Amino acid sequence: MRQLIIIGSGPAGFTAAIYAARANLSPLVIASSVEVGGELMNTTEVENFPGFPEGIQGPELMQKMQEQAEKFGAEIVYDDVTALDLTGPVKRISLGSGRSEEADAVIFATGSAYRKIGIEGEERLSGRGVSWCATCDGFFFRERTIAVVGGGDSAMEEATFLTRFASKVYVIHRREELRASKIMQERAFANEKIEFIWNSSVTDILGDDAVTGVQLTSTVDGSTRELPLEGLFVAIGNDPRTHLVHDQLDLTPDGTIWVDGRSSRTSVPGVFAAGDVIDPTYRQAVTAAASGTVAALDAEHFLAALDEAGAPASDADQIEGLPVV
Ligand SMILES: Cc1cc2nc3c(=O)[nH]c(=O)nc-3n(C[C@H](O)[C@H](O)[C@H](O)COP(=O)(O)OP(=O)(O)OC[C@H]3O[C@@H](n4cnc5c(N)ncnc54)[C@H](O)[C@@H]3O)c2cc1C
Repeated sequence: MRQLIIIGSGPAGFTAAIYAARANLSPLVIASSVEVGGELMNTTEVENFPGFPEGIQGPELMQKMQEQAEKFGAEIVYDDVTALDLTGPVKRISLGSGRSEEADAVIFATGSAYRKIGIEGEERLSGRGVSWCATCDGFFFRERTIAVVGGGDSAMEEATFLTRFASKVYVIHRREELRASKIMQERAFANEKIEFIWNSSVTDILGDDAVTGVQLTSTVDGSTRELPLEGLFVAIGNDPRTHLVHDQLDLTPDGTIWVDGRSSRTSVPGVFAAGDVIDPTYRQAVTAAASGTVAALDAEHFLAALDEAGAPASDADQIEGLPVV
């Protein structure tokens, strides 16, 4: 049996692995079979991760995090977790290959998924004009004409934020009224750079190596037209990846895993959560990495208490007795 298993290989999982490995916990990282490195593998230039003043490609940053975790003794498995039993003191994990693993503690860092429109050009032009994160990529669109897809609060927030950079921001929405709160709507309506395109869906993203425009289809009469653009921000929602644990761990109303205050402690002793899967708001690589640090330190304290007691820590140890770091 292992002391610690980390599920997920994004900034949260790998940072937790670096800290846990340097604490001699020999963590096993279940990295997934197809998405090793997490969300940053889908992007090109990352300019806001501290320590890289020239910027760094997303996949290269994740490769460096993995190397750093392995250097200190983390073991990486390229497999997917298909089932978890978190109920008892021994946490049981089943993998896609049929292998199973057991551990005293688990860090759950499975991230979240931006909802996609589901059209061909979306994946192909990801990082080449298609983005899901204005905070991450807005800076690349200075004096450009871009569009935001969506009608909720986050779409209005992204559109308003993007007007700091872009010369023109279209908001494309399927209906003729927004879901966003009144205050967010008013802010967007008052912004001279924002123009709304109602009753329209994006049905194709145009461009070979970079976005040059979109095809719009009217949700009223099915007619189509092209809109020239240099960037498209998709803001139609985000789903924390909790399906493996939704009946075992408490969730928040936002759908993220509930954690105790600023810690990573979930509702189940010995189970910790980190990164975008607990974060409805910030969702950045550096905040996920910081959250991975918190989880590794919490797991380390939990395992130390377990060692001292010679038995599984009680719920009280988990919630009250351990220092919050
Ligand atoms: C296109 C794009 C560009 C971005 N650009 C930036 C940027 O420039 N700067 C920035 O700070 N942030 C950026 N972000 C946000 C950033 O990528 C995320 O905030 C960050 O990756 C979250 O880290 P995480 O470790 O919590 O989750 P993720 O990176 O999502 O990693 C989750 C990991 O869990 C694994 N996993 C999930 N389910 C299972 C399972 N069942 N079994 C095994 N493994 C599993 C996944 O495969 C993945 O490895 C961008 C996001 C996107 C989508």
